[in-house]
Amino acid sequence: MLPEAGSLWLLKLLRDIQLAQFYWPILEELNVTRPEHFDFVKPEDLDGIGMGRPAQRRLSEALKRLRSGPKSKNWVYKILGGFAPEHKEPTLPSDSPRHLPEPEGGLKCLIPEGAVCRGELLGSGCFGVVHRGLWTLPSGKSVPVAVKSLRVGPEGPMGTELGDFLREVSVMMNLEHPHVLRLHGLVLGQPLQMVMELAPLGSLHARLTAPAPTPPLLVALLCLFLRQLAGAMAYLGARGLVHRDLATRNLLLASPRTIKVADFGLVRPLGGARGRYVMGGPRPIPYAWCAPESLRHGAFSSASDVWMFGVTLWEMFSGGEEPWAGVPPYLILQRLEDRARLPRPPLCSRALYSLALRCWAPHPADRPSFSHLEGLLQEAGPSEACCVRDVTEPGALRMETGDPITVIEGSPDSTIWKGQNGRTFKVGSFPASAVTLADAGGLPATRPVHRGTPARGDQHPGSIDGDRKKANLWDAPPARGQRRNMPLERMKGISRSLESVLSLGPRPTGGGSSPPEIRQARAVPQGPPGLPPRPPLSSSSPQPSQPSRERLPWPKRKPPHNHPMGMPGARKAAALSGGLLSDPELQRKIMEVELSVHGVTHQECQTALGATGGDVVSAIRNLKVDQLFHLSSRSRADCWRILEHYQWDLSAASRYVLARP
Ligand code: AMP
Repeated sequence: MLPEAGSLWLLKLLRDIQLAQFYWPILEELNVTRPEHFDFVKPEDLDGIGMGRPAQRRLSEALKRLRSGPKSKNWVYKILGGFAPEHKEPTLPSDSPRHLPEPEGGLKCLIPEGAVCRGELLGSGCFGVVHRGLWTLPSGKSVPVAVKSLRVGPEGPMGTELGDFLREVSVMMNLEHPHVLRLHGLVLGQPLQMVMELAPLGSLHARLTAPAPTPPLLVALLCLFLRQLAGAMAYLGARGLVHRDLATRNLLLASPRTIKVADFGLVRPLGGARGRYVMGGPRPIPYAWCAPESLRHGAFSSASDVWMFGVTLWEMFSGGEEPWAGVPPYLILQRLEDRARLPRPPLCSRALYSLALRCWAPHPADRPSFSHLEGLLQEAGPSEACCVRDVTEPGALRMETGDPITVIEGSPDSTIWKGQNGRTFKVGSFPASAVTLADAGGLPATRPVHRGTPARGDQHPGSIDGDRKKANLWDAPPARGQRRNMPLERMKGISRSLESVLSLGPRPTGGGSSPPEIRQARAVPQGPPGLPPRPPLSSSSPQPSQPSRERLPWPKRKPPHNHPMGMPGARKAAALSGGLLSDPELQRKIMEVELSVHGVTHQECQTALGATGGDVVSAIRNLKVDQLFHLSSRSRADCWRILEHYQWDLSAASRYVLARP
């Protein structure tokens, strides 16, 4: 067999040091096809192909010479070396080949391609697909794993995706925590593959939104998950890392009662004295989960992770609902700066919700740290109780003697409490006298249940949950079947929250279309006072841009959930367009425009199409000009020229204008 053209450098290198006999073993067994791949080759790997230590030293010297050449380009090393937390980077002897550090158990390593076989597809993220797999160890033992493969385009991996992929490896290889997903190793094949601990039960988001008959997750379990999450995040923070993509979709269930933080593609080291990371350019980030300072300035810190923790808490207690559903990304920041907050989900106790509100304090310094949160969660968590008599009153939460009850709301001076029956999963109100607290030694429940904020209104029957219908004596259990259609669920396969932090869609043209829950959110308790006045969204504000939708590496988004096809709004649009287009044709065109220009609303697409007589290309161009115009201080004519120059690639045009404010 002839040497492959792409690996002639290897043959030459080996020939130069009289080790040409190792060409095929290095190429095929160790999968080394580029000089940088040697970074992951350990002496034991070379031992394994029969290369003696003196020969290894010769190879190491030859590689050093190769690298010190004028065109040395160590892509893997550059990216991995540049992002691993400083204090954990092992210092390697200068003459030994660099490789992944090996913890106890020796599992974080370079894995030969043939040792991993991939099975069923588990999911896909923004830069790769994840398969269930089986990893055969040198001992012959097989370990179930998850294999994340870097998505490769026709011209090879895209730079950003490769960077994020390798960054994820570099971060994960240094982490060891019971609630952080473990990296086993890396396969330097085509494509690159990350071999990770398998979380057999999938993502928490999928579990939260699983349709009946899957039972909902118990409130007590959600609280346990929150404590596990706070612990893992305190660990990451202590290692100088900011996650930046904390959400239930990135929490994996390793067992029914264990979550693991995963997806480290957006993790960055915290730099500088201020302990924050500031984005260097427009990159996609999860808009609806982000803190205001992240949205406005691209600034991330442990405190912005704490904000995301609050949103994750909200997701958990909302059954996996999408935060700020229906609010266009460019309006979310405005809402947050107007002090609107996500409303309290019915299953969330007031004590926990007030904790979430603390996480959403406008000023990062006013938010609790993760280690503080661990303690606060303990305090705000629900109490466990046991039912001491059957409850059959109409409207009350049904219980039988011996049922485990999680008390969500209750105070000593209240006769009616709210809780969840651990046997039936139902949530509702019940007489306090029907339970004894688990830690009260069998005494009836007559003491405060929560050490946090006492529930207001509990003394009035029917107002246990003060912001729910007063006429209802008892809270109805959440009807799983009645859950709103999950927009996230419908966007399966997409890194769903990935909206650009820097997307400024066209400015709202009035007629606020807040969905009811958001309007309600304005009325919920607000964060601490003292919020500085919101800076105007000036056209020259340094808002980085949104990569244009057509360039996004993940599948295109389906139409936004708040504008389902065939809804009255769409028919109205057809009427507005002067009967120019038949409904289905208009729908198709609107969708095309919507998918091509990030951050625009259905309405804006209709208007743009109306203005261009239904010409999709012109509508897309006009909207892109609008986007760029709002992003910069340039005239529309300038924006048009710049976009034309960049062949209507909004992302590239945005980068251009942002670099030259
Ligand atoms: P990611 O690219 O990390 O966002 O992963 C995409 C999806 O793949 C996730 O939402 C999970 O459903 C699934 N997934 C990722 N990693 C694992 C794992 N270690 N075990 C099981 N499923 C996983």
